[in-house]
Amino acid sequence: MKKNQLLFFLCLLTTFTTIGQIKLPKNKAIINKSLEKHKTELIKISDAIWAKSETAFEEYESSKLLSDYAEKNGFNVQRGVAGMPTAFVATYGSGSPVISVLGEFDALPGISQKTLPTKEPIVEGAAGHGCGHNLFGTASLGAAIAIKELMDAGKIKGTIKFFGTPSEEKFFGKIWMVRAGLWNDVDVNISWHPGDNIESDVQSSLALVDFKIEFFGQAAHASADPWNGRSASDALELYTTGINYYREHVKPTVRLHYHIQDGGQVVNVVPDYAKLWMRVRDTKRSGLLPVYERAMKMAEGAAIMANVDYKVSLISGIYEVLVNRTGGEIMQKNLQLLGPINYSDEEIAFGKKIQEVTGKPQVGMDSNIKPLEVTKENPGGGSTDVGDVSWNVANINLSVTTAPKDTPWHSWAVVACGGMSIGHKGMLYASNAMAMTMADLFENPKLIEKVKSEFKERKGDEVYEAIIPEGPPPIPTKL
Ligand SMILES: [Zn+2]
Repeated sequence: MKKNQLLFFLCLLTTFTTIGQIKLPKNKAIINKSLEKHKTELIKISDAIWAKSETAFEEYESSKLLSDYAEKNGFNVQRGVAGMPTAFVATYGSGSPVISVLGEFDALPGISQKTLPTKEPIVEGAAGHGCGHNLFGTASLGAAIAIKELMDAGKIKGTIKFFGTPSEEKFFGKIWMVRAGLWNDVDVNISWHPGDNIESDVQSSLALVDFKIEFFGQAAHASADPWNGRSASDALELYTTGINYYREHVKPTVRLHYHIQDGGQVVNVVPDYAKLWMRVRDTKRSGLLPVYERAMKMAEGAAIMANVDYKVSLISGIYEVLVNRTGGEIMQKNLQLLGPINYSDEEIAFGKKIQEVTGKPQVGMDSNIKPLEVTKENPGGGSTDVGDVSWNVANINLSVTTAPKDTPWHSWAVVACGGMSIGHKGMLYASNAMAMTMADLFENPKLIEKVKSEFKERKGDEVYEAIIPEGPPPIPTKL
């Protein structure tokens, strides 16, 4: 062996370590080991959050489980940030760079489910983790702890922050955290979401605005003296008719949805009150605003026709995600290093049963690493308050398999997988991928600069302006 060959060989020995089937560079092997050490505890926390299934702004115990474990691991924890009792920031280290990771933990109402591949609620009508946020928050905390331990091992320097972000599903808690300036000193933020595939996610999401419309009329007997009545539900029906005609004249990227929350109580009373929850979306916030204006104007028109009063109240709104491909490429390399997730025969059978019951092809889980996709100008899909974070700090997004291919999301099937090993495996995989990506950034300031410069370029002249009403977040009052 020549001298330079020998040096190369020695170099490989010192910088790579083999963990199981995977050969990882040394710092990434330390991360993997950290997560292996915390695995049992992380699964316990995730399962406890799954069992609690606390919804929007009520996630007291879930938030405590995560923030307590952060504190136990040496993080400095600030609870109740941005006026939200269940929001928190856990910080470790000091100085530059500052890298953060997001953790959600709220559940969805009405989809309680056992860890079974057929629909069977634990408690009929109770909440369940149909978006996998029990895995989301716990995986991100695991990643933050692995980075902290890499700092303790003297391998990297700087600050790691874990943001506990409540109420993603209903009120979009991150908007108030952004308004409080919590990401102002952060260089790069990492986020992930449970899904049915593994990919470094370089697609945006839809911007949206949520608002409430109320109509106020005059009650009367529906048969004896209807001429004395002014019907709030007439206004509501006229309004939704207007919205449904309007659908024909919006761009294909626009989505309009409404939910009738109060249309009167009984058939023999002209209703004096009606209420509607309205949501407008578009792939770009700039396209969304004129549609929102028009949808508000229609409320006035409906009120005039029914001769009633009306009130429009803004709930909140979110931006589309600002993509960062430079960050996405770093994440992609780490996914390729990790490779796909291996499933047992029992897990594959569980996945196929869910597919059978939900009428999907019985192919099991898809954990192949998708190649980095072209970023679509107008993506489909949903919305997330990660969007608001991504306009304030460069953001890297990841999706990891925690449910079988094509599983209907926000459904009992996602709840089922999130409380058992299919979900746990995805969660630990996400921890590894995010921590490895953060390690790359900590190790290489030039990489951080590249990610940040793409962020600046994509943001351009846009001045971020949150779509939220003045005042504190809408925290429900405790009875
Ligand atoms: Zn979600």
